[in-house]
Amino acid sequence: MVEEVTDTNTYSHSRLSCYEQCPRKYQYRYVDEIEIEEMQGIEAFTGTLVHLSLQHLHEEAASGNVLTAKELLEHFESMWKERYDGSCVKIVKRGMTCSDYRMGARVGLQAYYRRYHPFDDGAVVGLEHEVRFTVGGKHRFVGYIDMLRSMGNGVYEVHDFKTGKRLPSPADLRADRQLALYEIGVRQNFPDVREVRLKWHYLAHDKELSSSRTPEELRSLEGRVTELVERIESAPSYPCHCGPLCRWCEYAEICEK
Ligand code: SF4
Repeated sequence: MVEEVTDTNTYSHSRLSCYEQCPRKYQYRYVDEIEIEEMQGIEAFTGTLVHLSLQHLHEEAASGNVLTAKELLEHFESMWKERYDGSCVKIVKRGMTCSDYRMGARVGLQAYYRRYHPFDDGAVVGLEHEVRFTVGGKHRFVGYIDMLRSMGNGVYEVHDFKTGKRLPSPADLRADRQLALYEIGVRQNFPDVREVRLKWHYLAHDKELSSSRTPEELRSLEGRVTELVERIESAPSYPCHCGPLCRWCEYAEICEK
């Protein structure tokens, strides 16, 4: 799910990524705070509903009500019927229909259900769980963890639900900044933490991928992130980085590239 930043001095993984992609886009979004009404892509629409369905599944399970697979799918379908509006959701990929995305999401949810039923591994600490923390001792960050679980004895798991088709390589996982930042957040917020496991659920592939970070890797990440934040804050201007991603940029109409 997309991270939200609630004040101008608080950073997030997505805010850093925006600057890395294009400083001008960063300026529009985070400095000038220009809001553009745009159509949502079907991938983001479907991803949101899958996240909400899994949240509902785990919230119910945590309160002692384990949904059936049928109930999970009914919940997903009712949200889809309520929210889908063809004039507000765009399908870019040729040959794909709204029904392809809906059916793909159903298959992913069913696979997740089969794999993790009855959803009682550890205790859910939070869903879309907000963590606030600092990097380099002074730069404020916020993150929203899809699911944070406590496995007991100071072991925590950071879970991320993925609905995209592309599977990352082991090297991609080792370099993943988002969940590593969340680990820093968990370590600062939970004094009993002994170990943090990072887990990605690729629903379309019925795959769970895992990784972890050493203390040295976390220190090195803090150094790189501090350097990037300081570069952003001292930037004299926000140049355009034109490229293929301009086609998907919500600011393309106003951009003076
Ligand atoms: S259209 Fe391209 S250059 Fe302009 S802000 Fe967007 S990504 Fe940057």
